[in-house]
Amino acid sequence: MKKIQMVDLGGQYQGIKEQVNATISTIMESAAFINGPEVHAFQKDLETYLGVQHVIPCANGTDALQIAMMGLGLKPGDEVITADFTFAATVEVIALLQLTPVLVDVDPHTFNIDVEAVEKAITPKTKAIVPVHLFGQCADMDAILALAEKHDLYVIEDNAQAIGADHTFKDGRKQKAGTMGHVGSTSFFPSKNLGAYGDGGAIFTNDDELAHTLRGIVNHGMYKRYYHDVVGVNSRLDSIQAAVLRAKLPNLNSYCEKRRAAARKYSAAFSGQPNIVVPVTVNGCGEICQSCNCHVFHQYTLKITNGKRDALVEHLKEKQIPCGVYYPIPLHRQKAYLDERYDENDFPVTNQLVQEVISLPMHTELDDEQITYITEAVIGFLNG
Ligand SMILES: *Cc1c(COP(=O)(O)O)cnc(C)c1O
Repeated sequence: MKKIQMVDLGGQYQGIKEQVNATISTIMESAAFINGPEVHAFQKDLETYLGVQHVIPCANGTDALQIAMMGLGLKPGDEVITADFTFAATVEVIALLQLTPVLVDVDPHTFNIDVEAVEKAITPKTKAIVPVHLFGQCADMDAILALAEKHDLYVIEDNAQAIGADHTFKDGRKQKAGTMGHVGSTSFFPSKNLGAYGDGGAIFTNDDELAHTLRGIVNHGMYKRYYHDVVGVNSRLDSIQAAVLRAKLPNLNSYCEKRRAAARKYSAAFSGQPNIVVPVTVNGCGEICQSCNCHVFHQYTLKITNGKRDALVEHLKEKQIPCGVYYPIPLHRQKAYLDERYDENDFPVTNQLVQEVISLPMHTELDDEQITYITEAVIGFLNG
């Protein structure tokens, strides 16, 4: 059996090696390392793939979120509501901009932001909602967009984990994750579903004026060379990363399908197990199906309901099976984001999830032998 990895980037590279190497050597010869033609070409390709008016490439997914918030003109003291159960980058940029993060609980089935909790947290100071499409599945965008419209709030989608996912609205319309709100962001960190060979990120919007503002902010607030109209940052996607991403983008749908296929096999093997809750897909047809593309399985995350999650992590380590706990501590209990306004009773779901979740190896190169080895190890331990 091939050695099991949490993410197998080396294996994936073998399938695109010639193309990637050729395009990188073109860039080396041209020496257009920053803002070369590959960056613009990737931007155009991604706009077409996503069906969005504007893609603004930048240096990483954290910058993308920060720049989106800067572009919307959010001011210190404005309240921004986001999920308690996510990677810290989301809340970090809110705090860095001296906005006030307001963390709310999540849905126990999808792990995505709980829209009722969002509504309860809205105050006259609330300016934006940041849904995170966690683990590869969109948050409840019908309800979030309706709530935002009712209260005149911006919606900033943190789409670092769900690029390529479709959201099916209640009326049957489909839209790509990250393109439904006023602005969306993503990360091209190597292990993300569309990963570069270094850092990268992008911001998406259908708003022409906002796109113009964002393009200035990523480049020191310059709209004309050496005229700095607004305070900006330096956040660039380099040409080599753009070339890698451009070579990978045509494969993104098949990469997503490979992840879904692995998820289907995992879930079939775990079906009927009393102590395991497998991931649910609530969008489209409700199943992990070939056509609806609603879950792109950035992570395949189980809930272990008999209190043995930590022991299972240890057991898998001994069996050379990598796994992850995303996330072990709710953001509202992280030292950097403590706030006396939070009440433990407001976070029952997150507080439970941090004790129950475990993410299994998930990538495009998993084979049946590996999946069987992993599922047998999990089931054997929990029933042992
Ligand atoms: C990875 C990630 C980010 C940050 O992306 P970087 O490119 O690492 O800065 C932000 N939000 C979420 C939910 C992520 O998973």
